[in-house]
Amino acid sequence: VPPKTPPSGEFALIARYFAPLSRGVPGAYDLTDDAAWIRAEPGLDWVVKTDAIVAGVHFLPDDPPDLVARKVLRVNLSDLASKGAIPRFYLLDAVLPKDIDESWIAGFAEGLGADQHEFDVKLIGGDTTSTPGALTLAVTALGQIASGCMLRRGTAQAGDDVYVSGTLGDAALGLLVLRGGLNRLSPAARDALISRYRLPQPRVSLGPALLGLARASMDVSDGLVADLGHICETSGLGAIVVEASVPLSPAAREALREHPALMSAVLTGGDDYEILFTLPPAGREKVAALAHRLNLPLTRIGAMQSGSGVKVMRADGSERALDSPGWQHF
Ligand code: ADP
Ligand code: MG
Repeated sequence: VPPKTPPSGEFALIARYFAPLSRGVPGAYDLTDDAAWIRAEPGLDWVVKTDAIVAGVHFLPDDPPDLVARKVLRVNLSDLASKGAIPRFYLLDAVLPKDIDESWIAGFAEGLGADQHEFDVKLIGGDTTSTPGALTLAVTALGQIASGCMLRRGTAQAGDDVYVSGTLGDAALGLLVLRGGLNRLSPAARDALISRYRLPQPRVSLGPALLGLARASMDVSDGLVADLGHICETSGLGAIVVEASVPLSPAAREALREHPALMSAVLTGGDDYEILFTLPPAGREKVAALAHRLNLPLTRIGAMQSGSGVKVMRADGSERALDSPGWQHF
């Protein structure tokens, strides 16, 4: 039960809420030293990624703190997964408004604890400071992979199939629901879309299973068209996407039946946190077997080709015009 007094200094906060999350890591010393050590292991590389989220930009200020915690951790785990790495550790920078309620921090730490358990990762350090500005949280995640094997964006080849995991567009539609849109959807569909926005499902089992199978891989966080565009640019290629093959959840199908124009939000909206990967057509059976083993849809949505840019082909054979390929901060 969190005490009713305001936060009593950063060291007390670290000891009370964050040190328990480092338990079991010998080099973390209960977060009482300047830094932590982790042992290098022969034959393995560390894959590292940091991602920050800001109140009012990436989450809504009144979102439940445990969900905010899980989101900032999971967006990093999604990046590690897309590179084929197994997540092990993370660091946390908590930049908190001075008047923050200690119960918010307690809820936040509770969310981290739940996901540490779910994804088998441990907190090993970070920083805690105050700010006159918006609450900001940054996680730096560390994952392991066989040396030299990190999956890349720039290694697709012309003729590769393009696959995506799970379903696309749910989070973008969920954000629309949270902003008061899509009023005529069933309550179940609205809830399903909102929870995809609030709580990404990083594909941590899929990523490492793509080693030796995928040629190029990345996670979809800024929208399918924008992110496939990154694979195109770095690989020096173009890509074609067959719109009718883009995997949709039942809730997204319901939304599109009502508002067909939302298909462009599905194609360009952010926060999917699925994995986008390419491989030669000879691997199709292996992908089907993997999808079955993981109980996760892996859908072929198009192909890499020579040229540049992403073309989305509609059912009538015409190319879909898109205003913007995806989310950008600047
Ligand atoms: P320094 O004063 O040397 O910058 P700090 O006082 O910021 O060190 O941190 C003390 C210890 O607590 C360090 O091991 C640091 O990694 C850890 N720590 C601080 N803030 C957090 C946090 N938000 N989450 C996890 N560990 C933290
Ligand atoms: Mg400090």
